[in-house]
Amino acid sequence: MTSATLPSGTMVPSLGLGTWKMGENARTADQEVESLKRGLDLGMTLIDTAEMYGEGGSEIITGKAIEGRRDDVFLISKVYPYNASYQGVIDACKRSLKRLRTDRLDLYLLHWRGEYDLEETVAGFEELRKAGKIREWGVSNFDVEDMEELMEVPDGGNCAANQVLYNLSRRGIEYDLLPWCQERGIPVMAYSPIEQGRILRNTELIRIAKAYQATPAQLALAFVMRSQNTIAIPKSSDPHRVEENAGAIGLEISSEDWAALDAAFPAPSRKQPLEML
Ligand code: NDP
Repeated sequence: MTSATLPSGTMVPSLGLGTWKMGENARTADQEVESLKRGLDLGMTLIDTAEMYGEGGSEIITGKAIEGRRDDVFLISKVYPYNASYQGVIDACKRSLKRLRTDRLDLYLLHWRGEYDLEETVAGFEELRKAGKIREWGVSNFDVEDMEELMEVPDGGNCAANQVLYNLSRRGIEYDLLPWCQERGIPVMAYSPIEQGRILRNTELIRIAKAYQATPAQLALAFVMRSQNTIAIPKSSDPHRVEENAGAIGLEISSEDWAALDAAFPAPSRKQPLEML
C-alpha cells in the first residue's frame, strides 16, 4: 500500500474507504459492513464517515466494521457546519464517538464552511485534541482563499488535511489548491474519486485501462493517487467492487498513456472555483 503523510508525520494509506449513502437502509446494512471489512483486510485501512451520512447511520455501520480492529484503522469523521461552534464541535464529536463505539477519532473534519468563525471551530477542535478525543483535525471543501484565512487564525496551522472533490473530470484543484497544499505538506483527500461512477464509461479511460488488464475504476483511482500526498476514498457497498478498487494500488501507467488520459480529461489552464458535490 502506498501512503500519504500528514504534517505531524503520521502516515496513512493513499487508498481508503468512503461511506456516504451507507447506513440509510437496514436491508443493506450487513453488506455495507462486509464491504468495509473487506477493504480493511485488503489494506484500505482509512475510513471516511460523517455525522451527516445517513444522519449517523453511516457512523454506526463504520463502528460495526471496525469492531475488534480499531487500532488498525485511521478513522475520520466530519462535523456539520451548523454544529461547528466551540461547544457544538465538542458535543457533535461526543455523539459521533458513541455511534462509532470508540474513544477517539484519528481525524475530525469541518465538513464545509458555515456560519461560525473559523477561530471558534478551531478552538473546539484543539480542545478535543487536548482531551484525546481526536488525534488531528482538518477541513473539507476549502479553496485556497479559505485555507489562507485558516492559516491566520490561532492554531489554524495545525490543519492536517483538506478533503475536496477531485477526479479525472474535476481537475480544477491542480491549478492552485493542490500545489498550495503540497507545498505545506497538507494532504489532499479526494472525494468522489470515480465521480460516483459517471466517468467510467469514457471510451479513452476504458481503452487505456484495458491495455493494463485494469478496469476504468482502477485507472481513475490510480490517476488520483498519482499526485504527491493525495488520498483517494472510493465508496462501494459491494465487496467485489471494493476488491476491484483495491487493485488500483501498484498500477504503473506509462507517460504516454498518462498523456493520452490528459488529452481526454484536460488539466485546468486557469483558476476554477472549487466544486462541491
Ligand atoms: P465515488 O466516486 O467513490 O463513487 C461511489 C459510487 O460508485 C457508488 O455508487 C458505488 O456504487 C460506485 N462504485 C464504487 N466502486 C465502483 C466500481 N469499481 N465500479 C463501478 N462502480 C463503482 O463517490 P462518493 O461521492 O461516494 O465519494 C467517495 C467518498 O468521499 C464518500 O463515500 C464520502 O466518504 C466522501 N465524500 C465527501 C464529501 C465531502 O463533502 N467532504 C462529498 C462527497 C463524498 P456501489 O456502492 O453500489 O458499489
